[in-house]
Amino acid sequence: MPAIMKTKPAYGAELVEVEVPKPGPGEVLIKVLATSICGTDLHIYEWNEWAQSRIKPPQIMGHEVAGEVIEVGPGVDTIQEGDYISAETHIVCGKCYACRHNRYHVCQNTKIFGVDMDGVFAEYAIVPAQNAWKNPKDMKPEYATLQEPLGNAVDTVLAGPIAGRSTLITGAGPLGLLGIAVAKASGAYPVIVSEPSEFRRELAKKVGADYVVNPFEEDPVKFVMDVTDGAGVEVFLEFSGAPKALEQGLKATTPGGRVSLLGLFPRDVTLDMNNLIIFKALEVHGITGRHLWETWYTVSSLIQSGKLNLDPIITHKYRGFDDFEEAFELMRAGKTGKVVFFPHK
Ligand code: NAD
Ligand code: ZN
Repeated sequence: MPAIMKTKPAYGAELVEVEVPKPGPGEVLIKVLATSICGTDLHIYEWNEWAQSRIKPPQIMGHEVAGEVIEVGPGVDTIQEGDYISAETHIVCGKCYACRHNRYHVCQNTKIFGVDMDGVFAEYAIVPAQNAWKNPKDMKPEYATLQEPLGNAVDTVLAGPIAGRSTLITGAGPLGLLGIAVAKASGAYPVIVSEPSEFRRELAKKVGADYVVNPFEEDPVKFVMDVTDGAGVEVFLEFSGAPKALEQGLKATTPGGRVSLLGLFPRDVTLDMNNLIIFKALEVHGITGRHLWETWYTVSSLIQSGKLNLDPIITHKYRGFDDFEEAFELMRAGKTGKVVFFPHK
């Protein structure tokens, strides 16, 4: 079967022929129906510093997935042949202090599916049964594969009340766009999006942003104050990882408001903590991964509610993997929302 593999410790990846794997104890084999590219896959493709320190080629890439179980390994009793599943990426230990406090999303022994072992950019793939999530049969594969990143967006947006609250989202990359969809489905208003890329501002509008602003041309803090009659937003959701966006967002948040931080900053960030957070009594949440498994229930229900506007976010669909290099290069250039592959042509 064809698979996108990181074959060498260098830029890029290769489409190779490999054997269909056999599920070992505690594993299931799936026929991959849809799989999507995550920012992490892009880092592995680009072979950045993080990838160099973590990835051991040769390895099949990819972790966002929807597929049908076609074989179960020894000892698997929670999943059956014919089940339609997606996968949580974090393989948690269940034994550490965090896990024993039901904080599986911050397990200190987390292994990552598709990062620390073979992934799902293939026609068939192995999924640890402990990480399988059963989907309703009628969920479209291109939605089912988005559930993992949607979990990040849901934890960011729904870390506090959102219905009827003015909201600023900084960064409309794939994750910020999913955040806009979740915020709108949850009744946020107005949703203001700060994003320098025109292509992504247009996508943000299609997903449902009420206002968009280019922070490289206009002051987003003034923009927010104008829209909110000088009050500032109740909720600030940081999806860019840009230090400047963080500072602007905190300035634009109303005193007593709520902040969720998902974007990862490239370096240490210096902030006027006293005036931007402490004297404003802001409620600040760091967001990582997804809550297991509460967030998956929320994500699945949100999709089934029909209220999540996901179609404009899926900008590129590919049958087979033949054009995978084009897909990665478009994503690198910021010319995509989410990219989905349907491996079986
Ligand atoms: P991305 O790089 O595609 O998107 C970031 C967006 O921010 C881009 O569209 C960019 O144009 C925009 N941006 C840049 N400077 C800005 C500024 N000053 N103001 C507003 N927007 C600005 O990344 P993504 O895949 O959408 O992921 C978003 C962030 O979330 C990244 O930082 C990623 O590392 C992080 N992330 C965190 C977790 C977690 O568990 N905490 C998980 C996945 C991703
Ligand atoms: Zn643990």
